[in-house]
Amino acid sequence: MQQWFYEYWTKNIRFGIKYKDHFLSKQTKFQKLDFYDSYELGKFFTLDDVMMANEKDEFIYHEMMIHTPLAVHPAVKDVLVIGGGDGGSVRELTKYPTIQTIDMVEIDEDVVRACQKHFTITAHKLTDPRVKLYFEDGLAFVKNSEKQYDLIVVDSTDPFGPGEGLFSMEFYQNCYHILRQDGILVNQHESPYFDNTKLEMSRAHKKITSIFPIATVYQAYIPTYPSGHWLFGFASKQYDPIKDFSPNVSLQASFGLKYYNTEIHKASFVLPNYVDKALQDARNK
Ligand code: SAM
Repeated sequence: MQQWFYEYWTKNIRFGIKYKDHFLSKQTKFQKLDFYDSYELGKFFTLDDVMMANEKDEFIYHEMMIHTPLAVHPAVKDVLVIGGGDGGSVRELTKYPTIQTIDMVEIDEDVVRACQKHFTITAHKLTDPRVKLYFEDGLAFVKNSEKQYDLIVVDSTDPFGPGEGLFSMEFYQNCYHILRQDGILVNQHESPYFDNTKLEMSRAHKKITSIFPIATVYQAYIPTYPSGHWLFGFASKQYDPIKDFSPNVSLQASFGLKYYNTEIHKASFVLPNYVDKALQDARNK
């Protein structure tokens, strides 16, 4: 019997992956967690039947999420990661010797523990001494935090279930307050392509632009996320992602990155007309 995992990208379109093994399935306190071993993508895991990460293309998402703001802010010392239970964002952050503290706030400890066991490609740096893990809701954490950060990375699920609050006005406002005066926020910003994710993209953009003086999105091609065309939000109190682009080229070259480079950085902020228009419409609503 052929075994296939299907993710419904819309009500009428689904994406399928043929797998060899479905080796973990668990209803956690927050969501359904599944791990598979596939023929062409290596191991992958899903939350509520939505692809989170797979061994073949996870580098694209994590490199773009982390190296982009680090090439703009000249002195990132304290970083807050919200979500990101697979550890991929933390892995990329630990490559920077100048970063002193990385606080990761993940609501679901089961995701972290399962990734530490079955998905070490991303999780193997969660034991770095600079990393402190908090298993709690990111929404409450940013409300109560007295610590100030240079960079906040919102590596969240979609705005449904536990991830919903991470797309709220209250959450973005509290992130603004706990960022230093030159702080940057990057976030998982959905896809502009299908109507369902486009709506979430527009809602998030409207909220973020009403709080941060600089707020835009940048894009990457991620084959296993709906449509493949995926966005990240870049919001900042001071630094412009292009005008203030000042990468430490030799340091980043030493990382051996597979996707991110200085030309990709600049190009990723150049948006197709239909995306630009959708964002403009969202701001004007
Ligand atoms: N790259 C992924 C994507 O876009 O599909 C996201 C990866 S990461 C696994 C997302 C994590 O966010 C999950 O582990 C989930 O448990 C966590 N999460 C969801 N809601 C959260 C919340 N309110 N506070 C903290 N973490 C949350």
